[in-house]
Amino acid sequence: MWDAIVVGAGLGGLLFGTRFARSGKRVLILEKCPHIGGTSYIFKRGKYYFPMGPLSFSFPGRVKTYLKEAIGEVEIEFMRNHFQLLTPFLNVVYSKPLRELGNDLKRQFPEESVGINAFIGEMKRVISLMDSFGELQSNSTIGTRKDVLDSGSESETYEIPREYSDAIAREFLDARINNPSLRNLLGSQGTSSPEMSMLNLSFMWNVMSEEGIWFPSCGIHGISDLLVNAFTRYGGELRLSSPVKRILVEDRSVVGVLTERNELLKANWVVSNADHKKTFLELIDPTNVPLDYLHLIKTTPYTDSELCVYLGVDPKKVDLTRMKASHLFYRREINPAKSQDPEDFDNQEIEICLWSDNAPDSVPRGRVSLILRVSFPYEHFAGWHTGEKQRKEGYREYKKQLAERLIQTVENALPGLSSSIEMMEIATPLTYEDWGNRFQGSIAGWTWSAEAAHSLPGRFLIETPVEHLLMVGIFAASRLFLGGVPTSMHTATLASSYSQG
Ligand SMILES: Cc1cc2nc3c(=O)[nH]c(=O)nc-3n(C[C@H](O)[C@H](O)[C@H](O)COP(=O)(O)OP(=O)(O)OC[C@H]3O[C@@H](n4cnc5c(N)ncnc54)[C@H](O)[C@@H]3O)c2cc1C
Repeated sequence: MWDAIVVGAGLGGLLFGTRFARSGKRVLILEKCPHIGGTSYIFKRGKYYFPMGPLSFSFPGRVKTYLKEAIGEVEIEFMRNHFQLLTPFLNVVYSKPLRELGNDLKRQFPEESVGINAFIGEMKRVISLMDSFGELQSNSTIGTRKDVLDSGSESETYEIPREYSDAIAREFLDARINNPSLRNLLGSQGTSSPEMSMLNLSFMWNVMSEEGIWFPSCGIHGISDLLVNAFTRYGGELRLSSPVKRILVEDRSVVGVLTERNELLKANWVVSNADHKKTFLELIDPTNVPLDYLHLIKTTPYTDSELCVYLGVDPKKVDLTRMKASHLFYRREINPAKSQDPEDFDNQEIEICLWSDNAPDSVPRGRVSLILRVSFPYEHFAGWHTGEKQRKEGYREYKKQLAERLIQTVENALPGLSSSIEMMEIATPLTYEDWGNRFQGSIAGWTWSAEAAHSLPGRFLIETPVEHLLMVGIFAASRLFLGGVPTSMHTATLASSYSQG
């Protein structure tokens, strides 16, 4: 009998396991993939190392504290990453403190000064309310009084006026900013029309401008390595390539898991680092879960997946001078009248990351690496999926064709790109589904759209209706108020405190 079985060795699962093992408990982590770290790991192609997921993250001080609490003092330095938007109408580095960014924008758009001041003032106001979120507990609710009533919980509440947590930022911006490019930059940090609530948008600006986004000297995969070392030192057991087939429940209380190899393992606690849709729609017999909870999980969407092209490049053959930051969001044309076609890369925002700026040791001498990412709906690729890691014939050619078209578009910002490429790897939503085992390869947790997330209460989703089953990881928070990596770690910290009383 284990004190706890953890399903998944992503950052959330590893941190939970390490904290639990440190307190002298018997912990087993079962990981489906042959590597640790879930989406926060690296892979090698030729002489290049690339990230499977996160490129950098926010709240580095918190990440260091989570690590220190679990494994003791660690020597990690952080390097700040900057972000630029380049479109036919805008060229701006926007990862600056909000007041500084506001001043830059007022110089470019003097006629919008009143609206810019109003928006920045409002964002700063919500961010200052968020300071009280510092010590959020697993039963804390972030949102309005109505959220709490809807969730039926008597949890501690951080009440936010309704105009922030319910209102869609679009309405606020439409009333104050005339220029559509400026409106979209302020409302989405890009070129999309604003769809987040004022609350979610202020989380994003807090992360981007005030806290900043950083890369750790150990590499993001290095955080997982540190955790696994400590976990095994504390006596925990980790099994890789060991998928869990079922989480077993009796009388609404968890009793253990059944592995893919049909091994029955009993435990007092089961902690799932798999996402909610995988956990409740695939791993648990639905008769053990209240119908309204199942309905919520089924009907609330996740964020989309993406197409990603990893490139090893000779920097002498490509002109990188238009990149003023290591992350450039580039859109070649803005044509809202055109129908939405995910393959029309000219009319979409593409993230171009100069990855080797963060990780110079990940490339051979004299070379650099670039990562091109564009949001891509899973459904567009679903037809190629014939099973886990299995695809219909023609998939490789199709994804190569897409990658070449993506490169063609990016070449308008980085002349010479296509002739500078020495190595290329391509990941699609199907790849992300296999790598992180996330439902439909989702990237960034639950939907960020205020309208689509309406029924999801603004709170942590760590406790579940099944007794002694806890959730950790990016999906265990309905809102990513800390960004991806720290949210995964925060939920693990909360879950371990909860399970140890
Ligand atoms: C392409 C991409 C880019 C991203 N970029 C960023 C970024 O720049 N910054 C940022 O902060 N965040 C980013 N994220 C989010 C990132 O995923 C999280 O920040 C963090 O790594 C998530 O950790 P997690 O604890 O949720 O675990 P995950 O990484 O989701 O790992 C879950 C683990 O559970 C395992 N598992 C699932 N089902 C089973 C089963 N049945 N049996 C056994 N094991 C199972 C999986 O194999 C996986 O290893 C990105 C994600 C992706 C995919």
